[in-house]
Amino acid sequence: MQELWRLTTVPHVDRETVTAMQANNASSWLEIDLAGIRRNVRRIRELIGPSCQIIAMVKANAYGHGAAPTSHTAIAAGASRLSVATLEEALELKAAGVEAPIMIMGPGGAELADEAVANGFEVVISNREVADALSRQSQRHGRAAGVHVKVDTGMGRLGAAVEDAAELVERVEEMPGLRLVGICSHLATSEQDDQSFAREQLAAFERFCVQLAARGLADGALRHIANSGAILTLPEAHLDAVRPGALMYGLSPGGIAVDDDVVPALTWKARICHVRRAAKDSSVGYGRRHVFERDTRVAALPFGYADGYLTTLSGRADVLVHGQRAPIVGAISMDTTMIDVGHIPEARPGDEVVVIGSQGDEQITAEELADRAGAIVHEVLARLGQRLKRYYLNEHAEEQEPCAAAAAARTS
Ligand SMILES: *Cc1c(COP(=O)(O)O)cnc(C)c1O
Repeated sequence: MQELWRLTTVPHVDRETVTAMQANNASSWLEIDLAGIRRNVRRIRELIGPSCQIIAMVKANAYGHGAAPTSHTAIAAGASRLSVATLEEALELKAAGVEAPIMIMGPGGAELADEAVANGFEVVISNREVADALSRQSQRHGRAAGVHVKVDTGMGRLGAAVEDAAELVERVEEMPGLRLVGICSHLATSEQDDQSFAREQLAAFERFCVQLAARGLADGALRHIANSGAILTLPEAHLDAVRPGALMYGLSPGGIAVDDDVVPALTWKARICHVRRAAKDSSVGYGRRHVFERDTRVAALPFGYADGYLTTLSGRADVLVHGQRAPIVGAISMDTTMIDVGHIPEARPGDEVVVIGSQGDEQITAEELADRAGAIVHEVLARLGQRLKRYYLNEHAEEQEPCAAAAAARTS
């Protein structure tokens, strides 16, 4: 059951910001609506209830949305922790003044122990080598190292084997300088309709936690396993904390239907830089991959695969121009993408084009692009390049934001 979800218009767009952006003359840029992120975090809170923590997944530059603004916004909206993949990502957040606990998930090993401990980051570990390194650094720096022990319940990637994990937890509790913060695992299939494997993983995780308790271990540690798919479809997996990525950005994980209280936070726009006539039987771009069947007009757009527009979208995707769809023609190149605008005679250089987002009554979702590219929605976002300028809308919460207002109405 694949349902592309609707874009709900979020009001209160900060006009000053938009004007500043237009004055800036960017040619291809992202608009990130922080009110959308706030709304999505609040929706996650409604789904998980008041006592479960939200660990905001802000790895890969917050799925392209910009790590620091996204993190500050997620925390203000109710997330209590942040998680990244690498030490560098954690350092970026610290430099941006983020004060919430930051967890480095890896993959990464003992080499990050020194700086992780020195900076007070928590580390997810799967083996004793990393535990030992953290303990050594902790003594050297005179500072406790927060640790989450990961157990592999079926993802088969990181995590200690279930048979060895209790021993690893015991070691963490006994070693000088280490502080056990959490016990976690990761689901391989939470986005699929068939929940049987996810349920098996959850059962294995719960058995493991019971076994720890029986040995008097991990008392008070946070148990967390749920990603966006499980937040939506497997409430039993919410446990002490959840780790939303996709859902926080308003993306539908694996095509799972999400309700109107979840909105995409990101819009990708560009301006047409050149328009030319193209004669029947002439071609466009590298490899002459598209030959026109009729006389038409083509427009050049100032972005390409270096900005994260996947080359597999060549000949398969559209952008929006004057509220209409215009197809991509020819090979997508590093900096330039071409569209056929024969049916949009008013298209001119300088006109605004929407790559992801809505214009008039039309909409192109990140999910649509993923589908056409043969990719997953996470990839479409994570590849958004550094060259794209990011502009933030609605940095400050309005008193009556839609989701807050709805929640207030329900509780009063
Ligand atoms: C990326 C990631 C998540 C978030 O996944 P989404 O599907 O985007 O919600 C959660 N847990 C781990 C370990 C991850 O790597």
